[in-house]
Amino acid sequence: MPKVLIATEKPFAADAVQKIKAELEKAGYEYSFLENYTDKSELHNALADAEAVIIRSDIMDEEAFNSAPKLKIVVRAGAGYDNIDLKAATAHNVVAMNTPGQNSNAVAELAIGMMIYIARNKFNGKSGTELSGKTLTLYGFGWVARYVAKIAKGIGMDVYAYDPYLQDDVMLKEGVKPLHSVEDVFKLGDYISLHIPATEETKKCVNWNLLSLVKEDAVLVNTARKEIIDEEALLKVFAEKKKFRYVSDVAPDNSAEILELYPDRVFFTPKKMGAQTSEANTNAGIAAAKQIIAFFEKGDTTYKVN
Ligand code: NAD
Repeated sequence: MPKVLIATEKPFAADAVQKIKAELEKAGYEYSFLENYTDKSELHNALADAEAVIIRSDIMDEEAFNSAPKLKIVVRAGAGYDNIDLKAATAHNVVAMNTPGQNSNAVAELAIGMMIYIARNKFNGKSGTELSGKTLTLYGFGWVARYVAKIAKGIGMDVYAYDPYLQDDVMLKEGVKPLHSVEDVFKLGDYISLHIPATEETKKCVNWNLLSLVKEDAVLVNTARKEIIDEEALLKVFAEKKKFRYVSDVAPDNSAEILELYPDRVFFTPKKMGAQTSEANTNAGIAAAKQIIAFFEKGDTTYKVN
């Protein structure tokens, strides 16, 4: 039976650990945990006889793959996988996977929570506004955006989305109205929520051309990445649209300046918190274990990223 290593410099919560063990035991797999290690040599030693490894932000680089002669699969319990050297994984014939979607509800709840927080003037005692009846536009319609749409529709928002990589029926199926130009995302939204990845194409794509289109009192919500924002344009829109507000889980590099100039119109989480829930943590761990079992039992490579 395959030997699975769970290597977590920052361990999973106790509940997640129990559930991962239960999955692996049910399948009859051997497993071992390496938690709270302080030196990468400990990880490399533990990899010596592992055929599968579940990691969190642990580094799987060329050296790690060299120490893992039996390894067939590495699964990052989480969405991002920039801690895995994908070329090295491929060169060593190792399948690399992430666990997409497992933290999406957590991120979506944070996005909606920040919208309510700013609509209620950061709970400062002054009368605010409601989300119900307002227009929400989503830029990108992947995992997180779909959860945001579901919650927003429950609240009574009118939800639109733009995603040039998807057919309209994907949105229509979720009760969301498709948009066909990025400009409309910025023109139409009372709340504009960003859900695109940071890539070469999207770097600084939220620029003045788009921000100049927003309504006077629009709220921009960013749980995606700071790199997609043109920070100079962001400062300009604050200056020109006197009721424009910005809430973000990924504070810009000029956050101190914005906070000083417009304290009532911004909110930044102290550090990226979108995926920081025990449920997201547990879901990702269980999904990683299940993906490993499906890989060995059925050759399932659905979430392969290399
Ligand atoms: P996803 O891959 O499921 O969805 C991204 C969507 O964006 C896809 O549907 C894709 O077609 C679309 N897209 C790509 N380029 C686009 C473009 N130029 N214009 C319009 N649409 C475009 O990703 P997700 O899980 O929904 O996450 C979205 C982003 O949120 C991630 O890329 C990540 O940066 C961020 N994220 C943040 C946290 C957090 O803790 N705050 C956690 C998870 C994800």
